[in-house]
Amino acid sequence: MSCRWDGDNKQILSSLCMHCGDPDFTPVFDDMENVGCCRYEPVFTLFEIYKMVRDGDDDFFMNHIYHHPKRRIFPYEILVEAQVDDRFYRSEEQEKYRKWLANASTRYRAVDFKMTYSICSFFVSGKGCGLPPRYKTSICRSFVCHTIEDQAAEETRQQLKTWQRSIIEEAESFNRVHQEQLQARGWNLIDHPDQVLTYLKMLPSGGRQA
Ligand code: SF4
Repeated sequence: MSCRWDGDNKQILSSLCMHCGDPDFTPVFDDMENVGCCRYEPVFTLFEIYKMVRDGDDDFFMNHIYHHPKRRIFPYEILVEAQVDDRFYRSEEQEKYRKWLANASTRYRAVDFKMTYSICSFFVSGKGCGLPPRYKTSICRSFVCHTIEDQAAEETRQQLKTWQRSIIEEAESFNRVHQEQLQARGWNLIDHPDQVLTYLKMLPSGGRQA
């Protein structure tokens, strides 16, 4: 089986990722590094932020996520934009991108197109993800590409689905409960980062209740 479960960090790992051959993630130019699915713009939710402050890593959160030069802060999550190859901004590429973006039914093509020119800001050349595994987003910990899925036996596919569900449900239920609690207090990450961090820090282990 090419996939395994890392129970400490609750993530799915695959030996195939080191030499990714998935056509969806093939670099557009020969001089671009093959980074597999790490072309994504990770979104750090309250769940990942909770794990950082729970571990006493407030400085890591502030320095590497909240003040990241490519971050976009939303009320309850922070997106870190990818590094985009300059060739994406050439007029021919931009024309295609804008055309797809303008139409709701082709918007996904625009996103996929831009992704082929992008590398996640946390990717470390020749190594892989530069984040401590426990702080990776639920998408990064659960994503499995078509190539891996297609090669897996039926039993493995079912196992992958179970792992994926448990990763996503844990993060989503945490975010639902604690976003509501923070909204009730009138706090958000844009205007009240200190209050949000203090709130998350005060949660009992497991973060189940406010
Ligand atoms: S955060 Fe890490 S695992 Fe997720 S896309 Fe970026 S480099 Fe890859």
